[in-house]
Amino acid sequence: MNARISDMHPDELRRHGREVAEWVAEFVDTVEQRPVLARVRPGEVSDALPKSPPQAAESMEQILEDFREIIVPGLTQWNHPGFHAWFANTGSGPGILAETLTAALNNNAMVWRGGPAATELEDRVCDWLRQMVGLPDGFEGHIEDTASLNSITALAAARHRATDGAVREKGLRGVAPMRVYCSAEAHMSIDRAVILLGLGQEGLRKIECTDDHRMRVDALRAAIKEDRAAGILPMAIVATVGTTSTTSIDPVPAIAEVAAQEQLWLHVDAAYGGAMAVSPRYREVLAGADRADSIVINPHKWLFVPMDCSILLCRDMPSIRQSLSLVPPYLMTPENRTTRQLMDYGPALGRRFRALKLWFAMRWFGQEGMAALIEKHVQLAAEFASWVEAAPDWEVVAPHPMSTVLYRHLPAGVQDEQAIQADNEKILEQVNLRGRSMISQTVVNRPAGGLWALRCAVGNARTERRHLEQLWQDLQEVAG
Ligand code: PLP
Repeated sequence: MNARISDMHPDELRRHGREVAEWVAEFVDTVEQRPVLARVRPGEVSDALPKSPPQAAESMEQILEDFREIIVPGLTQWNHPGFHAWFANTGSGPGILAETLTAALNNNAMVWRGGPAATELEDRVCDWLRQMVGLPDGFEGHIEDTASLNSITALAAARHRATDGAVREKGLRGVAPMRVYCSAEAHMSIDRAVILLGLGQEGLRKIECTDDHRMRVDALRAAIKEDRAAGILPMAIVATVGTTSTTSIDPVPAIAEVAAQEQLWLHVDAAYGGAMAVSPRYREVLAGADRADSIVINPHKWLFVPMDCSILLCRDMPSIRQSLSLVPPYLMTPENRTTRQLMDYGPALGRRFRALKLWFAMRWFGQEGMAALIEKHVQLAAEFASWVEAAPDWEVVAPHPMSTVLYRHLPAGVQDEQAIQADNEKILEQVNLRGRSMISQTVVNRPAGGLWALRCAVGNARTERRHLEQLWQDLQEVAG
């Protein structure tokens, strides 16, 4: 085939578009027939791909065939209802449709003029989310790809506020060493944010937790006092609602009190757990978050929006803007004075039109539908936990306040912790090899030392009771 020097003809786009739409619907409909965990060895996909780039144009038929034959079998199927690893999520129908439209529109709303509707829709869906989780007026929203990016942005603003803007001008030279506080259970994105902000790992102080994995507020107070006495500048507190390992919920009301007394930025990482407050029944998971300076919630985790879409709700957007904003002449527009420029609120300049898929999903499910699904997931997880608890050779190893259960097999007559762990590691591999469900693991912090446990996360919109029954059956069978 000769070199192609123009984009696809609309007629061809129509033809392949229909084919792709058909494939997508069929894929979603039959994804359960595929193994959840990819059955490829490392390097297998790479070996199937040409080492050199294509010189001549190729046909879309060939590209789609390779997509089906090489790429799809080499993928772990996150959109499978038996996916219970890490935090399960959903590439929902409305989200898939919106993603297609997003690519067609190819908007880059770095400034209002670059995407007036994208800018204003982002404001509106963020405010809808604020209302859906029961937060008061006064929070403004901003969408980025991930919670990791939202958290680093929030902490950059906290650093700006704590140093009266000095770091923006002079860097860290001449500033007292700063400290961020989070619990020992906080997500590693907080460690990474602190490293990237130049505070070093010593700039993060991990506060010990209670036996149920929640930050100890007395220890937080003591740490701040001790740091101040040592000439360290406390900068921010990060509380977590739904920790990654156990889904524990830090005592945010009491932490907010400390933040207010100490005049520290309070960032709430509710990347997974914040979604739960969409159900009025579980609104209290965000108790105290109304006093936070910033909160991150991921619609791409438990709000049925495809990867990636993360929202930062912030009560002090000016600090974010002041810490990051740069407006070179080539980005100056007449509307800069009267409208919000999305480029001012995160590290990236260019941005995808992520608000569209959230808008589609929010409207398609409605708050009632989203809440009902979340309630169902919490209920399914509780049911799964009850089966584990009732089985003589199994135990639930941590409270499960959300939709994720931590558990392990206790082989009869085995006392040695290492042997129990080895048994559970084998169970994990064998369940995942069967391909009907996929689970992951964690280490639960206990005073006596870490306890290796299996995790079952429920969060896919297509997950039904039968999928948990299947997992439970597989677990019992491979455990023997
Ligand atoms: N915070 C919590 C509590 C998480 O569980 C995760 C990921 O699982 C993150 C932050 C990071 O999320 P992201 O992948 O969107 O950066």
